[in-house]
Amino acid sequence: MRFHSPFEGAWADPETMHTIRTGDWRLQRPVTRQARCSHCGLCYLFCPTGCVRDRGRHFSADLDFCKGCGVCARACPVSAVLMVEEEAGA
Ligand code: SF4
Ligand code: SF4
Repeated sequence: MRFHSPFEGAWADPETMHTIRTGDWRLQRPVTRQARCSHCGLCYLFCPTGCVRDRGRHFSADLDFCKGCGVCARACPVSAVLMVEEEAGA
């Protein structure tokens, strides 16, 4: 059975969620410190827009769809994700 909601959450339907480029809304962006990342995937699971991608040895956000909410940084058990001001990180 497939259950995909059009609303944000772990059950959200990526095909619906990722039609809006919400990256334009962002005031802060997540920056993954790759050397610290243990590839546990918690940021992937908790991101409400489902925009965290598996990059092979680390996870990081797809900035086209990341809204800068900071949930991934809060969820990371090893503080691998830093939230930086959008101007500073641009
Ligand atoms: S800040 Fe992190 S949790 Fe929030 S939308 Fe971006 S990648 Fe997802
Ligand atoms: S939660 Fe942290 S350690 Fe785990 S995959 Fe994401 S960035 Fe890496």
